[in-house]
Amino acid sequence: MLTEEMQSTDRYVVQEIFNSVQGEGELAGKWSSFIRLYGCPLSCPFCDTGYGGIVPQNKIVCNRLTFPEILEQLRSDWVVITGGEPFIHRHKLQSLIYELYKNNKQVQIETSGAFWVELPKDVWVTLSPKEHCTKYVVVPDMWERASEIKLVISSGLELDFYRSYLQSATVPIYLQPEWYGMPETLKITLECLQQFPTAKLSIQMHKYLGLL
Ligand code: SF4
Repeated sequence: MLTEEMQSTDRYVVQEIFNSVQGEGELAGKWSSFIRLYGCPLSCPFCDTGYGGIVPQNKIVCNRLTFPEILEQLRSDWVVITGGEPFIHRHKLQSLIYELYKNNKQVQIETSGAFWVELPKDVWVTLSPKEHCTKYVVVPDMWERASEIKLVISSGLELDFYRSYLQSATVPIYLQPEWYGMPETLKITLECLQQFPTAKLSIQMHKYLGLL
């Protein structure tokens, strides 16, 4: 549980804060404020935030911000904590959520699922597993906790890799073509959707619109 004692007056390590529409998954189209926390150890080959192979690491900026400095930049009551990998910040993540709740914000977290700390039940958890392309296994509790599952499709083998979890999932499942491999990854994703019709397509709407 989040308690007053866990509230931190320390600074949070933030790569960037921006306001835009959520472009992916079940909440696509929703006006949101994004807090991109700094850091991720996974090194996914298709990472577009600087922690893998696509965007150079020297593009990453680490800002050390107090909560009031974060709050003044938020233009939506729906706050998406993303990364990097938010869960590596553990108690700092819990503290950040606590502060957001105190300011009447609702919270979504985007995660690879490779790390875990307890969260309030109404935090929306977007699980995008990367176990198939890194050494980081999804924490079992995360499959239970996820509010939606978003699978990035590069080769199509991802569907088989996660099939047992996907078949038992009771939350929305999205298949999202890997951006840098388009149009081939879109073709593969459409084939995957035929094989797994309970899933839906996620297209990273913000990138088509030229938004952050
Ligand atoms: S988990 Fe996300 S932020 Fe981390 S390397 Fe992979 S794509 Fe990038």
